[in-house]
Amino acid sequence: MDYQAIFATAVDALRDEKRYRVFADLERIAGKFPHAIWRAENGLEREITVWCSNDYLGMGQNPQVLEALKSTVDRMGAGAGGTRNISGTNHPLVQLEAELADLHGKEAALVFTSGFVSNEASISTIAKLLPDCLILSDQLNHASMIAGVKSSGMHKQVWRHNDLEHLEDLLKAAGNDRAKLIVFESVYSMDGDIAPIEKICDLADKYNAMTYLDEVHAVGMYGPRGGGIAERDDVMDRVDVIEGTLAKAFGVLGGYITGSAALVDAVRSYAPGFIFTTAIPPGLAAAAATSIRHLKTSGAEREAQQRQAQRTKDVLASVGLPVMPSETHIVPVLVGDPEKCKAASDILLADHGIYIQPINYPTVPRGTERLRITPTPFHNDALIEHLRDALVDVWTRLELPLGAASQDVTAMAEKLDQDIFSASGG
Ligand SMILES: *Cc1c(COP(=O)(O)O)cnc(C)c1O
Repeated sequence: MDYQAIFATAVDALRDEKRYRVFADLERIAGKFPHAIWRAENGLEREITVWCSNDYLGMGQNPQVLEALKSTVDRMGAGAGGTRNISGTNHPLVQLEAELADLHGKEAALVFTSGFVSNEASISTIAKLLPDCLILSDQLNHASMIAGVKSSGMHKQVWRHNDLEHLEDLLKAAGNDRAKLIVFESVYSMDGDIAPIEKICDLADKYNAMTYLDEVHAVGMYGPRGGGIAERDDVMDRVDVIEGTLAKAFGVLGGYITGSAALVDAVRSYAPGFIFTTAIPPGLAAAAATSIRHLKTSGAEREAQQRQAQRTKDVLASVGLPVMPSETHIVPVLVGDPEKCKAASDILLADHGIYIQPINYPTVPRGTERLRITPTPFHNDALIEHLRDALVDVWTRLELPLGAASQDVTAMAEKLDQDIFSASGG
């Protein structure tokens, strides 16, 4: 058995499919976000602009957040010292969980080492605790939610993305008496569309189901206090579990769930992904709490992000770039070919000093390969114009079509979603 050859062959298969991933060697510069230093393979260093960061509001360099991190490290040291079961809970984590429960108007919160872990651990544990639970999962749910569904070992059915009629059919067929868990996201981060949370909760009430909502791409950014889309839509109290990350708009690291005291206590007591892993360090907990607290009272970051995202969409569309329709801060630009998508990203970096990671299958369906652009409050008008000119150059050099109406792009993406749903047998 040639073990190494097996690994090499597996990676070659990705290369053949043009979806082998290369990570840019970047160094973020505190105080100069969204600028970073890029080290090219030939050893050259160059300052570039990052246009695809999930540090959506630049909170990763907010002076108060950095100060909280530094002063807590000075007082409490670097690591947490163990799992919470063994070493207890560092006080900043107690304060962070109180901040999170308050953010979402819930009785309790529980912090995990990442958003991925929070979804995997919580969905699997909740579903396992519910007898004969049927999980109803949106077609475009994130890999971490799918991991939770799978590791629960419970039966699952996938409903067509944001399709209420399909969800209702499945709920009706399952009957009122069976335990049912509806898992979905608020903002879908590749298309930038939003779930009809209130209507999903209406269905959950009608058929006696529980709801689990991933607000990872919305916390900090939507709602008067940054509580997410459910806060914006005034339906937080109707969702049973709200999950989020501390790593995107809050700019630090970690994930969490919020919900009833009984549910959170059950996950705390039963989830291996919580129990058997070291807690996040006190410095990160303090930094995250500071970030959340700041965004509860300051709307300036949210307003500036929305303004610059809209401006980016308008400026790119005005020169005929195929901006996919998005209701949110996410600006996807359709390329529709994995090789050209990678080439576009390479040219942007090497010739224009712009970093945008190509998004290829399996993150998005084949044929909808795209550049996913995330403007922040720090991407000013001059940077947006620079981006526009760079993209037009790339589109011209790669002979990609300019001038497609956005309806065409929508129709194409929808048809592909349908095809993929049918091909996967639902
Ligand atoms: C990024 C992401 C996660 C995972 O969050 P991390 O804190 O980065 O692990 C979960 N859900 C969605 C929808 C995400 O995009």
